[in-house]
Amino acid sequence: MQKTFSIIKPDAVASGKAGKILSLLEDNGFRIVALRMTKLSTSQAEGFYAVHAERPFYRSLVTFMTEGPVVLMALEREDAVKKLREVMGATNPANAAEGTVRKLYAESIERNAIHGSDAPETAAQELAYFFTTVELNQL
Ligand code: ATP
Ligand code: MG
Repeated sequence: MQKTFSIIKPDAVASGKAGKILSLLEDNGFRIVALRMTKLSTSQAEGFYAVHAERPFYRSLVTFMTEGPVVLMALEREDAVKKLREVMGATNPANAAEGTVRKLYAESIERNAIHGSDAPETAAQELAYFFTTVELNQL
């Protein structure tokens, strides 16, 4: 079993798709280990996406990620990191496969409904960024 980290982004929460996305994740074998709705502060979003700080879209991405509530999730299944990336679909919804979260619910390459960790190492870092050890291990 492996854990990964995911965020239902502000566009998908605002358009009322959070429940459908959680359901799709469960249907794909993910167990919800920890779950929290919150609104990210600017510094939380900047820190989370620090790897993209030099990209031209960074300020816009931080503004988007702080515009409204998000759902933070710790998810568990076999091969969770890779499987979540598959269920999410390509970053740009125009390139996302049929049936993926981004094909179904993303508005654009920026407003793309869901985040998922891209490797086991980043999953561990991102889980620890938002959840306590107790939250990740109690249930
Ligand atoms: P995420 O890290 O959110 O799971 P990803 O790994 O598919 O997405 P990254 O390349 O890490 O994609 O980009 C992080 C986020 O930055 C994207 O999900 C999207 O919201 C935004 N983004 C990426 N590329 C662009 C772009 N060219 N223009 C605008 N926003 C972008
Ligand atoms: Mg990424």
